[in-house]
Amino acid sequence: MKGNSQIKAESLKGGDSLSSKETFCRFCHLLYDRHLVTGVGGNMAVRSGENILLTPSGYSLRDVEPDMVVTVDGEGLVIEGANPTKDAGMHLAVLRANPDLNVVFHVHGTYLVAASVMLEPGPDTLPPITPGFVYYAHPLPMVPFLVPGTQILADTVAEKISKRHCRAVLLQNHGLVTVGKNFEEALNVAEEVDEAARIFVLTRGKAKTIPLEDLSRIG
Ligand SMILES: [Zn+2]
Repeated sequence: MKGNSQIKAESLKGGDSLSSKETFCRFCHLLYDRHLVTGVGGNMAVRSGENILLTPSGYSLRDVEPDMVVTVDGEGLVIEGANPTKDAGMHLAVLRANPDLNVVFHVHGTYLVAASVMLEPGPDTLPPITPGFVYYAHPLPMVPFLVPGTQILADTVAEKISKRHCRAVLLQNHGLVTVGKNFEEALNVAEEVDEAARIFVLTRGKAKTIPLEDLSRIG
């Protein structure tokens, strides 16, 4: 029978590299370079053993370096580093509720926010426009606007992500949360939702959608 630590090690695809601060920073910079975050907006989290690494408060993801990454314990108490992002509670709630997930991204891409203000909140918002979006994130739920940094937003997002196969949640007038077993998966989800949102906005919400009978055949 496998011990807990062995099971955990196997579930963390990528092993040490997954939780290393260098890898963490590489994906911070990727989110900025992909225009998924701007200014000091957006943040991310990854499990590191029993602890969680978070982006620091008040810094652009463009500028985050390994010695700026904040380490907190499972309760959110800072073990190393300065203040974590004000969305730390949301990242912790998502990771606590989903032991099979290791990475959480929160982004503010322009087209994501534009789509969020054109659509109505609900369990299935952005229509199935591309196969990539259908594969990674359809149906995509959207929650109504909730003030960033609040417990209600943290709990609401964590509850949505806990649903089967839900890997992303759109936040009205705000942005997107994506999750994954590893950094690559969370980024793939973010990029596919961003691409579908861009097409939705560029076609003014009139894009033809993938036929219903084909949706279950994508995957
Ligand atoms: Zn935000």
